[in-house]
Amino acid sequence: MKKKKRIALVAHDQRKEDLLSWVKFNADVLSGHELYATGTTGKIISEACSIDIHRLKSGPLGGDQQLGAMIADGQLDILIFLWDPMTTQPHDVDIKALLRMSVLYNLPVACNRSTADFIISSRLFEGEYEPTIKDYSKYISRSI
Ligand code: PGA
Repeated sequence: MKKKKRIALVAHDQRKEDLLSWVKFNADVLSGHELYATGTTGKIISEACSIDIHRLKSGPLGGDQQLGAMIADGQLDILIFLWDPMTTQPHDVDIKALLRMSVLYNLPVACNRSTADFIISSRLFEGEYEPTIKDYSKYISRSI
């Protein structure tokens, strides 16, 4: 990944305030990177901060899947995903799929604010970094 990171921001309803507060605190640093967000999260952030952000569909309407596809295509570098551990979500399978893609492609992922703080303050955040991708070729069927 390049110096300028492509960062996705997602928060479930009960976590949106937390994410907004984190974005406001880190607005100067974040504004030097390319930001993406699921629909409602992106709306709340762009209304509260003067920061450029690409808005995708709302999570339950496919936004999480769009982010998962971006990860599979190598178009995302970091995921900040404050999911709600106390509420069931209609798009639970999409959430699981997004987190699975993040692990599969060795993407740095923060699911809570402390981890987001560690990521943004890491010396690796400011420079180029190449995540190691495990060789999954043996999982691909030879009959295809
Ligand atoms: P939202 O989606 O930003 O549109 O609320 C978040 C999510 O993935 O649930």
